[in-house]
Amino acid sequence: MVRYAFSPAPTPSVAIDGSEERFPIRRVFCVGRNYAAHAREMGKDPDREPPFFFTKPADAVCDAGGAVPYPPLTDDLHFEMELVVAIGTGGHDISVAHALEHVWGYSAGIDLTRRDLQAEAKEMGRPWDWAKGFDFSAPVAPLVPVARTGHPASGRIHLAVNGETRQDADLADQIWPVPDIISICSRSVRLAPGDLIFTGTPAGVGAVLPGDRLEGGIAGVTGISVTLAPRA
Ligand code: MN
Repeated sequence: MVRYAFSPAPTPSVAIDGSEERFPIRRVFCVGRNYAAHAREMGKDPDREPPFFFTKPADAVCDAGGAVPYPPLTDDLHFEMELVVAIGTGGHDISVAHALEHVWGYSAGIDLTRRDLQAEAKEMGRPWDWAKGFDFSAPVAPLVPVARTGHPASGRIHLAVNGETRQDADLADQIWPVPDIISICSRSVRLAPGDLIFTGTPAGVGAVLPGDRLEGGIAGVTGISVTLAPRA
């Protein structure tokens, strides 16, 4: 038995819809660009180049539904509404044909992004970590088991800020559907139970301010709401 020098931090976790149990989080992978219209709004030409990934710390995930602090070091905090895949069965070199067998469930998440730091990182050839991986940067709605969602390949994905719709697209617009994302990700890392994959955001991203209310949803999966609190 391992004896630690001090008590380890609690295991990060996220709520499960309709259950008292929580989903323990191992790692958080995020797809960089997965909707052509969003790629274009970020100044990129969307072709079917292989998707690229970045990560957030597991403890960047927080339960949606309440307030999330406006993070430090930014004046340009952006929302990115995304379908989140929760992995229940691990593996590596997973085939596209078998990828969905590894899914535990789905949810809606918001990939909060310090866009000003990201722009600076891109310009200077630096990593995206500080733009993407800050505390409370990944609010996620309670996960819904796959038995209730099926595997959503189409359906509306949308987000409103203070009641005004800002993102409104369809999962079918994803350049790389979920089975491809799981398969490709699993060629680089061994996926394990507890991994979350944020699958990219559609067009319409923009800045939010303390006090703003973000509300969205994914048809057939779940809704999500977050209110931005004053700076942490
Ligand atoms: Mn994103």
